[in-house]
Amino acid sequence: MATKTQLTAQSAPAFQDAKLEPVAKKVLAGERLNSADGLALYESHDLLGVGWLANFVREKRHGNVTYFNVNRHINPTNVCVAHCKLCAFGRSPDSPGAYTFALDEIWQRAGEGAAEGATEFHIVGGLHPDLSFEYYLELIRGLKQRFPQVHLKAFTMVEVGYYARISKLSIRDTLLAMKAAGVDSLPGGGAEIFHPRVRKIICDHKVSGQMWLQIARTAHEIGLRSNATMLYGHIETNEERVDHLVQLRDSQDKTHGFVAFIPLAFHPANTGLSHIPSPTGFDDLKAIACSRLLLDNFDHIKAYWIMLTPRIAQVALRFGANDLDGTVVEEKIYHDAGATTPEHMTRAELERLIRAAGRVPVERDTLYNPVDREKMPIPPARVSSRSIDGFIPETSLTLNI
Ligand code: SF4
Repeated sequence: MATKTQLTAQSAPAFQDAKLEPVAKKVLAGERLNSADGLALYESHDLLGVGWLANFVREKRHGNVTYFNVNRHINPTNVCVAHCKLCAFGRSPDSPGAYTFALDEIWQRAGEGAAEGATEFHIVGGLHPDLSFEYYLELIRGLKQRFPQVHLKAFTMVEVGYYARISKLSIRDTLLAMKAAGVDSLPGGGAEIFHPRVRKIICDHKVSGQMWLQIARTAHEIGLRSNATMLYGHIETNEERVDHLVQLRDSQDKTHGFVAFIPLAFHPANTGLSHIPSPTGFDDLKAIACSRLLLDNFDHIKAYWIMLTPRIAQVALRFGANDLDGTVVEEKIYHDAGATTPEHMTRAELERLIRAAGRVPVERDTLYNPVDREKMPIPPARVSSRSIDGFIPETSLTLNI
């Protein structure tokens, strides 16, 4: 399916940053980069040079093909005991805006998504102090029973660690119970930055970085694949970014269970770190490119438009990304944030962005199998009530992606 890349080692540009030359040699020869190479990439201001290399790798793997999916986000509750400094989503139970859906309500919302042709429900939420593990298992069972055709990508490693704690089960047994209930794979959120110095400041009540990796490893061992993420643009150093990526790569060498990597741009508004400036466009493109170059054993790098903005996500398709994520939609969160109209990226809008970047859109399922809409027709695309360049409320930026 992938159209062949036009790029060759001979067409490599003259790099403005001489420190990129030895890294480029390795990339063009298909050799693995080490941490020092990763640091050279992150520290270089030759963004076009770094981007060219990432695009070279991207096109070698995927040609012009760019994936997207039709999905629906479901956030069962925003009540959370963790109070991470990095988060604008979690609330105390009695805070204004705190909500918890009844299971019927979740199934009804999921039904709307299924009717719109969603192939995936992406389910993440807060660590609620009173909901039992059984509530989540019942949620999954109910979804699987009603919508057996939809892939259930549910619960981050952070949530799994919390369910294990409240149910007094081992991590493995917790994951086995989730799998038996109908979970098909896990999202990649909650990884943030693995280094303990950073975690202590931005999310000290969450599972440690090592525990996150261990839960992912256990999930992969029992046949549940997952994504992986990195939250960048807050207090982390370039060394800590590279360390995060190399730890993910080491883990992937062992299990091959990660499907896609998603760099997540930090959004400081309404968080305990609101004094920190947002990452710049330069940071965003660098994050995509460096992850494409360092994560040589990950098939897919995703430009998550809801955090990057559609414009940057589109440009990222020429800086190493081969996926734009999906239609997303979680109306409750947008309404809670005071939005007056629904935020929605239609299938047609995603395709337009991809085509305008000179790429070929391919709708995929969660595990990157192409979706044949002749066999799975969907109703005519809903027309978005606002432009894709429109406002995305800050509290939609759930960090347990
Ligand atoms: S990032 Fe996740 S765990 Fe932390 S407060 Fe927000 S919802 Fe809770």
